Amino acid sequence: MSKNLETPSNRPPSIDQIARAISDLDLPHPLLVDAAREAVKNFNGGNVVEEARKIGEITSRKLLSDVINATGVLLHTNMGRAPIKIETQNEHFRFSNLELDLETGERGSRHDRSSKLIARACGAESALIVNNCASAVLLVIAALAEGSGVVVSRSELVEIGGGFRIPEILEQSGAHLVEVGTTNRTRRKDFEKAIIKNNVSLALKVHQSNYRIVGFTETTDISEMTDLGVPLVADIGSGLLDSACPWLENGPPKWLTGEPAARQSLESGAEIVTFSGDKLFGGPQAGIIAGKAELVELCAQHPLARAVRPGSLTMSALQNVTISYLERRGSSIPFWEMATTSVDELKERANKISTKFTTETSATPGGGTLPGVEIPSAGLQFEGDHVKFFRQQHPPIICRMDNDKTVIDLMTVHPSDDVFIDAAIKKIY
Ligand SMILES: *Cc1c(COP(=O)(O)O)cnc(C)c1O
Repeated sequence: MSKNLETPSNRPPSIDQIARAISDLDLPHPLLVDAAREAVKNFNGGNVVEEARKIGEITSRKLLSDVINATGVLLHTNMGRAPIKIETQNEHFRFSNLELDLETGERGSRHDRSSKLIARACGAESALIVNNCASAVLLVIAALAEGSGVVVSRSELVEIGGGFRIPEILEQSGAHLVEVGTTNRTRRKDFEKAIIKNNVSLALKVHQSNYRIVGFTETTDISEMTDLGVPLVADIGSGLLDSACPWLENGPPKWLTGEPAARQSLESGAEIVTFSGDKLFGGPQAGIIAGKAELVELCAQHPLARAVRPGSLTMSALQNVTISYLERRGSSIPFWEMATTSVDELKERANKISTKFTTETSATPGGGTLPGVEIPSAGLQFEGDHVKFFRQQHPPIICRMDNDKTVIDLMTVHPSDDVFIDAAIKKIY
């Protein structure tokens, strides 16, 4: 509650007084001053401190903070895609051996650790980690095809959300696009012909990711695109490591069917695969380039590699996830833990909150993967639109509307956050 400031006549209190009156908001002083200034600018005789408080609260809510994802979208781009565990920082500051070779004491490569582990986990000779999959594709094409042609099927000229478009990425990389086949059908012959006629140095297969072409279609699988005389790069995007999911006790979930995986793409003959760290891989935002050692090395040596290299926080988070994969501990990867929760378990949690509102729901993978796929789930459902109410809780609870009903899907909610949902519901009912 704001302090009652004595104001002579109708003049608002000073900026400093207002800023101090709202100092209970958890904001650094300069931002409180900004809020006070704006409130004074808007002053029209009302309660200027309350106005400043409102502005300050909005500023505070715009900061990056934890939210509860109750949308049932497992990889929600607006909420940072895959959920990650941040190791609690210890009290001391810490350095890492990011570029230090502990054997020789000399400068080492930041790619020596996490990259080697990832290569091991997906069966590649070598790997390189960059900022995201978009930069992985950019770098691979720049390093392997600058100044020449890249053949891509007309059915795979993808746009991923947020402006990642294959034709534009090719252009930015200094290569030119050689389109082959048609929207619905592309065959090996189409690639062969294009490669003979043009100055082509790379074949690119792009996972359609967020759309499907159905009906009279024909696609060229990776295994049919080998030995074209140019290296084959498969941008699988989604980052499934191995289609057998050996890190899951019960093997791959049904909804995963047909999703390309890094290990199998390499086994089928792709020389390089690229994928995101924060989609089905379940790690932090990153891009992974994995495959033949000499091609990965060309990428690492390219000047762009320096511009898209990740820092030690990313490397360290990625290393943790990769170790979990190598130890086949899917349950310690938050994404897989969440994605394999049984409907019964979710129903039980929903019932604990309120049997009256328990409902079955459909979760979705999200993150531009597996369009149209539904994952059986459970949660809570209420009449009317309470989406904004939930979003305004602390921490914010993000849920969705479905046919005039507010739906809370528990698959994407960590069990320890159920109490917040329970508390929010008790405020309405
Ligand atoms: C998602 C995706 C990308 C972009 O990945 P970011 O990590 O978001 O940069 C690129 N290619 C494909 C096929 C994708 O699915």
